[in-house]
Amino acid sequence: MIEFKNSIEINEWCEGLKAKGRTVGFVPTMGALHEGHMSLMHQAKAKSDYVVSSIFVNPTQFNDPKDFEKYPISIVEDKAMLTNAGCDAVFIPAVTEIYPNSTNYDLKVELGYLAECLEAKHRPGHFEGVMQVVKKLLDIVAPDFLFLGRKDYQQFLVVKAMVNHYHIPVEVIQCPIVREADGLAMSSRNRRLSEEEHSAALQLSYVLQQFQQQWKAHTPSQLQVNYHDFLNAHPLINVEYLEVVNAETLQAIDSWTVTPYAMVCVAAKVGEIRLIDNATIY
Ligand code: AMP
Repeated sequence: MIEFKNSIEINEWCEGLKAKGRTVGFVPTMGALHEGHMSLMHQAKAKSDYVVSSIFVNPTQFNDPKDFEKYPISIVEDKAMLTNAGCDAVFIPAVTEIYPNSTNYDLKVELGYLAECLEAKHRPGHFEGVMQVVKKLLDIVAPDFLFLGRKDYQQFLVVKAMVNHYHIPVEVIQCPIVREADGLAMSSRNRRLSEEEHSAALQLSYVLQQFQQQWKAHTPSQLQVNYHDFLNAHPLINVEYLEVVNAETLQAIDSWTVTPYAMVCVAAKVGEIRLIDNATIY
């Protein structure tokens, strides 16, 4: 695996491959890699001639400075995992490489309701930072395919909207959520959970499963109210939102007959750690 720190060098390498008619798949990450990231890598390998990943903890997408400071870093292990997964090149830039002049938000993308609901409502500035860094990374890597996890479902919709807005010639591919054997959605932040917090966090995926099992017998709002209270009754859990939404628009809904389909999204603090998860309602 080739390692790049310089944006011009990786850009030339990727452009060289594309000039030879090879396709490039791209898996951007913030490191502290786990099997969720690896599943994106495997899908990228299956679809592209070459796979590029990036490890960059992007300061502009953290609305909480403590979350940024404490974000787990494990570059040596990450590089070993990427090499094992057959990654061809990794881009590990310094903050000054990505933001040589300023970290001020510089994109104006009309996101409509996407900019107002769920994560956007609870993490002001988060998606501005995400769009800013993904735009820069797409300019640098210029991939044919971009692989994003469904775990960050709203992020997937936001990036797709940004890609459409700038007419970026990349196919955005959504990859399923990978879970621990106990149901917890894999996340780099899980490393920061104590044993007690980890077992508390299992309530999130449990609740999503309950929605999937009980939806026929209840309205969305009945389940929302019940399970919001259920989660908050746990001394370590503080729910930010638990919402049933239309999977296309993310508008809250109170009927299951929705096109294309309904999904349930949750964000909660478990101790100090903020976790998100979601599930489709069948
Ligand atoms: P992150 O390093 O958290 O910024 O995530 C990098 C990419 O991996 C994003 O596209 C995430 O949606 C994706 N990802 C993170 N966790 C998971 C997971 N448990 N399952 C699938 N994809 C994931």
